[in-house]
Amino acid sequence: MNKATRCIHGISKQTGRGLVNPIQPSTAYRYLDDDQLMYPRYFNTDDQRSVIGRLAALEGAEDGLLFSSGMAAITTCLLALLDPGDGVVIQEGVYGGTSGFGQGELARLGMQVRFCPGTPADFERALDVNTRVLMVESPTNPRLDVVDLRAIATLARSRGILAVIDNTFATPVNQNPLELGFDLVIHSGTKYLGGHSDLSCGVVLGDSQLIARVMGKARNYGGNLNALDCHLLERSLKTLFVRVEAQNRTAGVLAAFLADHRAIKAVHYPGLESHPGHALARGQMSGFGGMLSFELENRRDPMAFMRSLRLIVPALSLGGVDTTICQPAATSHKGLDPAERRRLGIGDGLLRLSVGLEHEDDLIHDLLEALGQ
Ligand code: PLP
Repeated sequence: MNKATRCIHGISKQTGRGLVNPIQPSTAYRYLDDDQLMYPRYFNTDDQRSVIGRLAALEGAEDGLLFSSGMAAITTCLLALLDPGDGVVIQEGVYGGTSGFGQGELARLGMQVRFCPGTPADFERALDVNTRVLMVESPTNPRLDVVDLRAIATLARSRGILAVIDNTFATPVNQNPLELGFDLVIHSGTKYLGGHSDLSCGVVLGDSQLIARVMGKARNYGGNLNALDCHLLERSLKTLFVRVEAQNRTAGVLAAFLADHRAIKAVHYPGLESHPGHALARGQMSGFGGMLSFELENRRDPMAFMRSLRLIVPALSLGGVDTTICQPAATSHKGLDPAERRRLGIGDGLLRLSVGLEHEDDLIHDLLEALGQ
């Protein structure tokens, strides 16, 4: 089946005559005649399994677990794969929550945590005999750098290391890292999977054996998703394909428009031929995504620019139906040392756009007005 069809039908078990699975808020299940003990924190209720089935079908995974946030998915997954003394190599520039967790919690628990830039050669240099896991994001936030996923997965496999990716920005519509050799895929479902800025959730997907290993910890840490949110997520997934396809298209139009505008110094979007990761993105993504970032000319005040937008909303988070904008230096990357921000190319004039579902003409009009034509 095509992805658009899988979004609608998944492989979910329809339990009644209705086309929509019933919401089952029960936290207590009969057990005498069943060999599996069912309980929300065991990640095995019908609601959870039905959404996981749909997501697994989209990512080409055997199994998965649904969490109450992207961070619950990331932290549980890393804690399940690492023991004290083990090493993990994380790409620098991943989501701040992930790098903060590595620097703080994992290091405190006795894991060896290293950060490196995202090329295969950088990873090769950073690996150690005790490295058990490497973790990447692609495209990255906020500069939309593209990581060579096949090469990273091959490197990991050759060293017996597990390769984990946060695939939130790309979505399962545009990129399927398990097919490129990754072992586990994580999403902050709070972004595109939920897609309407009204749901917090996360997901880990992979083969059954690895998922069982993560599940061993997950049932103790208890970050499961509740039944009502499972329903919301299932509903959102049915429109994931059409939403992301539209967002890909509009983002491409906006990137080209901004790249041509004299008040814009640079545009970062993997769909632009001028983007250094364009060829790589072509080889591993089926669409370039709805995220882009751009740099205002030096004279422009980013705050004044954002305040003069009428339609595009300055807001945190991303992946919703509303187009939103944020200044990473003052939001997602505020915690970094200014020199480190500069090294990563995150200047004060860099703005990140999450393209929603409005008509492209209205978005261009809004940007034109704010840029002063
Ligand atoms: N991964 C990425 C790429 C993100 O952008 C975020 C949140 O912004 C997360 C993970 C964390 O997800 P959540 O906020 O759902 O915990």
